[in-house]
Amino acid sequence: MQASSSAAAPLTDPFGRTVSYLRVSVTDRCDLRCVYCMAEDMTFLPKKDILTLEEIDRLCGAFIALGTDKIRLTGGEPLVRKGVMTLVQTLGARIGAGGLRELTVTTNGTQLTKMAGELYAAGVRRINVSMDTLDPATFAAVTRWGKLEQTMDGIFAAKAAGLAVKINAVALKGVNEDEFDRMVAWCGEHGFDLCLIETMPMGEIGEDRTDQYLPLSLVRSRLRQSWTLEESDYRTGGPARYVTVKETGRRIGFITPMTHNFCESCNRVRLTCTGTLYMCLGQDDAAEFRSLLRDPSVDEAGLAQAIRDAIARKPKGHDFVIDRRRNRPAVARHMSLTGG
Ligand code: SAM
Ligand code: SF4
Repeated sequence: MQASSSAAAPLTDPFGRTVSYLRVSVTDRCDLRCVYCMAEDMTFLPKKDILTLEEIDRLCGAFIALGTDKIRLTGGEPLVRKGVMTLVQTLGARIGAGGLRELTVTTNGTQLTKMAGELYAAGVRRINVSMDTLDPATFAAVTRWGKLEQTMDGIFAAKAAGLAVKINAVALKGVNEDEFDRMVAWCGEHGFDLCLIETMPMGEIGEDRTDQYLPLSLVRSRLRQSWTLEESDYRTGGPARYVTVKETGRRIGFITPMTHNFCESCNRVRLTCTGTLYMCLGQDDAAEFRSLLRDPSVDEAGLAQAIRDAIARKPKGHDFVIDRRRNRPAVARHMSLTGG
């Protein structure tokens, strides 16, 4: 009903950045326990604290009415949430003129053999699949509970369904650091882009972060010894900086929150599965939407105003540091709550 407000005033933050991209964590749960993301004995949130799929859809609709044209579903593992495909379908129905330009998903791939076709049918065209290694034993060690074969089967099911796949890999010192040449070649062979991610200090995970941190500047200079990396001005509005690998024609993105500041072009905000909107991945300031969504006196106009008020508080940037002295994360919440 509020469609008129979208044409009138897009969501713009105090630094002139237009916010058009919403990342939505649909669950904090996951069927894996990646070492950089979760402790093995995670306690998950009670169901009553989690937004229903209808509440998520309503809030997404309010963002879309204010000009949001890209939504990414993430988690936790978004595809293990019961009934998630109904949300994908209702959001998919919002793709088109005046609505969403793109609906995407970030997944660990375990459910893709079952769900890739349905994702495509709902309007999803690109997905990110996290796979940090091509080695089955390393994969089992990094994900604790995962099987490489299951994720690989998922990736190929996605490709067969017509989805463009980007592989996400977190760079981990002493774990997968000698594998990137092979991964670049493998992605080239199968037609996937690759995104390398530096570890971010988010949430207590029961391990020493400084042991895992591998600067991508180092990875990049090592890759240059085997590949011709051509600078690219390709941008997704996100923190990744891209190069094109001349030999394969595929892109490699580098997400470097620790060594490089990507905040100046930030166009995104993040919604947790409990309805908390974080205006910046690296800052604690947040706006609560769950109580508004559950308050019968708050109508669509009220929701729209609350979104505008939140965006007006979007900070200029983040300040990630691995606190070596106290070995504490810079941001206490887990990535699985905010979504990667
Ligand atoms: N479960 C899905 C997956 O693994 O793709 C979606 C959620 S996961 C939190 C999203 C992305 O965040 C993944 O690519 C994951 O590797 C990355 N990630 C998780 N914890 C991280 C951390 N501490 N530092 C950097 N990236 C992290
Ligand atoms: Fe699960 Fe994704 Fe976190 Fe791994 S990175 S534990 S797959 S949410």
